[in-house]
Amino acid sequence: RQISNSGMEQRKGRRLVLFPLPLQGHINPMLDLANILHSRGFSITIVHTSFNSPEPSNYPHFAFRFISENLPEDRRACCKTDLIAFLLTLNEECGPPFRDCLADLLSDSSEEPIACLISDAILYFTQDVAHELKVPRLVLRTGAASSFCVFSAFPLLREKGYLPIQDSQLEEPVVELPPLRVKDLPSIHTNDPEDLYKVVTSMVNQSKASSGMIWNTFQELEQAALETLHQQLGVPLFPIGPFHKRFAATSSPCSSLPHDETCLSWLDKQVPQSVVYVGFGSLAIISETQFLEIAWGLANSNQPFLWVVRPGLIRGSDWLESLPDGFLEALGGRGHIVKWAPQQQVLAHPSVGAFWTHNGWNSTLESICEGVPMICMPCFTDQRVNARYVSEVWGIGLQLEKGLERGEIERTIKRLMVKKGGENIRERVSCLKKKSYACLSRDGSSKQSLDDLVRHISSLES
Ligand code: UDP
Repeated sequence: RQISNSGMEQRKGRRLVLFPLPLQGHINPMLDLANILHSRGFSITIVHTSFNSPEPSNYPHFAFRFISENLPEDRRACCKTDLIAFLLTLNEECGPPFRDCLADLLSDSSEEPIACLISDAILYFTQDVAHELKVPRLVLRTGAASSFCVFSAFPLLREKGYLPIQDSQLEEPVVELPPLRVKDLPSIHTNDPEDLYKVVTSMVNQSKASSGMIWNTFQELEQAALETLHQQLGVPLFPIGPFHKRFAATSSPCSSLPHDETCLSWLDKQVPQSVVYVGFGSLAIISETQFLEIAWGLANSNQPFLWVVRPGLIRGSDWLESLPDGFLEALGGRGHIVKWAPQQQVLAHPSVGAFWTHNGWNSTLESICEGVPMICMPCFTDQRVNARYVSEVWGIGLQLEKGLERGEIERTIKRLMVKKGGENIRERVSCLKKKSYACLSRDGSSKQSLDDLVRHISSLES
């Protein structure tokens, strides 16, 4: 995604080194942030793993450095099967090549001096490298502030007996973190449950050691969580989101799959606010049984639907093999299935009336920014917290609480799309949409926070 040179500030003669976590939901916000800071006069170098790398020719205004982290093939593949083991490995393996890369950049006298490193919160090993090389590190957290409060409470949650999660306690409230229940606490399938605790506490502790944290959120949405974190972390916080709404995109966000542009022409033919857009992000995996319940729930809801079935979404299937023959044809064009959608454009389309989402933070924020109410089906980690906030705190969606069952799906879609109760939800999300625009305007909170961030970076001594 590129931005034009118009409105660009005078070059500052300082370079920022940005290092994203190499997963789609983390790379795109980091590239958006790079664009934002480039437009404020900083030069940008993106450091990236060779794994999942973006295409540098799409970003001619940035310099790229690839580190060879040499992850064994089985470790790369475990990004899909055991995400937490993958994150631990990245943190263990990337230290030496990243150190060499940063040292090399620092000694390059042909480039502008480096003001700071900005790295993803989950790449917590970068804090020690930055400290050793005397480069200030800012953290980008691509998730919500509310879910970070939960991560930051992990030691307390363990002490109080909520963690590790016991099946017998799932419905109980977490009294220290209302309105969460035990089943809303971050969890994920992993070979060693201790690994999640390790990743989370390292992420929080190394964020505390940083020179500040940048957030893809805005004050009006997460004021309470931001205040709590400000007290707990003791570093400056810069909520400057929503990133993707800061400039007119001239090309699509980076992704490993091409966008299926038929989505938009199909949406053009539908009635305003009638379509349920269904998409579960880049990592979630469901079983074949769940896939079929979703398919029948959508079919029985009588609403038109646009459904992203990413190859790899269904465990054990390549793509749509398990769908009964003639399933889509029998719906007479009411359903459209694609492999990957231009999601931001889809959500902005007037035909879309609801987003059935896994509540990854990017998807949640994109839905809020377009005023689209949500049906929440969190899969793992912070998605559970996001879903609870969407349904209970912000009141802008309904959560599928009783598992994935076709009758429940049909009822939930109808409650949101046709029944009266859906109107209040719609009103609340349009109100948040207005706030998400207002915060970026001249006197808006995110605009001011970005000014603060630029001043903060300029004041850092490396
Ligand atoms: N996305 C997209 N097309 C799709 C599905 C997802 O462009 O068909 C984008 C979506 O707009 C979002 C990102 O992929 O920016 C997914 O990030 P999120 O945090 O929601 O979920 P994750 O993939 O990290 O689980």
